[in-house]
Amino acid sequence: MNLTKGFSRRDFLAHTSCFGACYALARHIPLPPLDPALDEGSRVAQTPLVDKGFASVRKIGNGLYATISDFSKGPTTVCNGGFLIGKDAALLIEGFTTPAGASFQMDALRMVSQVPVKAALDTHYHFDHSMGNSFYGVNNIPLMAHSTAAKRIVDNCSPMQGVGKEAVLAPLEKAVKDAKSDAERAHAQSDLSAFTLVFQVASSTVLSLPNHPLDPGKLPMSIDLGGLTAVLESHPGHSGTDIVARVPEQNVVYTGDLLFNGWYPVCFDEKATVSGWRDTLKKFAAFDKDTLFVPGHGQLCGQEGIVSIREVFDDIAGQAEKMYKAGVPAEEAQQRYVVPDKFRNFPIFAWGFTIGPAITKLYSEWQSATS
Ligand SMILES: [Zn+2]
Repeated sequence: MNLTKGFSRRDFLAHTSCFGACYALARHIPLPPLDPALDEGSRVAQTPLVDKGFASVRKIGNGLYATISDFSKGPTTVCNGGFLIGKDAALLIEGFTTPAGASFQMDALRMVSQVPVKAALDTHYHFDHSMGNSFYGVNNIPLMAHSTAAKRIVDNCSPMQGVGKEAVLAPLEKAVKDAKSDAERAHAQSDLSAFTLVFQVASSTVLSLPNHPLDPGKLPMSIDLGGLTAVLESHPGHSGTDIVARVPEQNVVYTGDLLFNGWYPVCFDEKATVSGWRDTLKKFAAFDKDTLFVPGHGQLCGQEGIVSIREVFDDIAGQAEKMYKAGVPAEEAQQRYVVPDKFRNFPIFAWGFTIGPAITKLYSEWQSATS
């Protein structure tokens, strides 16, 4: 007898790994297929090394691999990452959302190499990139991150531990109830779903912190893995703790969340800066035209991914500026943005994590420029 009959994969995901609100959120964020144009230089393998649904790993260069997550198939990893393998050592990118996610990536590394792991890197402190860090602790793998990342993990996650879900989510539930329009209600509902996921993960995780702080003042820093050099750089924009790993010799960049490919960018962080982020993207646009980007979320891409996220920022800024000049208050403007046809397939992780704060941050930048 087939016990799973009538119990779809969809139900399984909804009830086990990613229940309720999180599932409602995840199913709206499918991963698009790999762009066949990326095959042209034949450095991106068309067949993944391993594919577990929630993430797959593929070769993207000489000793270079990308881990690409498909959030719609489960929250084990959520963000993208990868690993770099030289003759003498390897470097792992990201702590992911769960220790199982970090472990999955390590297993993939061991399928192709037995070199010692020199270190792992959290590209920034956000929960989906760091809640799996304990895997590195258990395995004695040094963990690098921006020098303020450890403190920010503690400051942001520990308030969600040992308290009831209600205490954290009540204001968001109230926002759904008090919404003045359908659009506002949908925005508030998306925030509640996203924050429910953050709460579920942060409240149930044994926090594990990076033990190799990277002083941004001392970057860029080169890491020699033996015939393969990674360069770590600090750039402003997404979280105030963002570090990218570049391999200049092969024109590959692991961007962390400084690039959301085909998504609305997540701008909610108190240290996120829209002008800083747009400057960073301008720098990425000046990298070699054949650069391959491993974004923090979304599919692998070339420079077209940078063009597209810059267009999204231009559109948000364009609509916001019109409202700013017309005297629309920030509170209202952040709800009024209209997603243009061109970006209608771009996932919005949650309105209050993406478009809303992008607009309020732009408003305060403009206000401080005139005051
Ligand atoms: Zn992030």
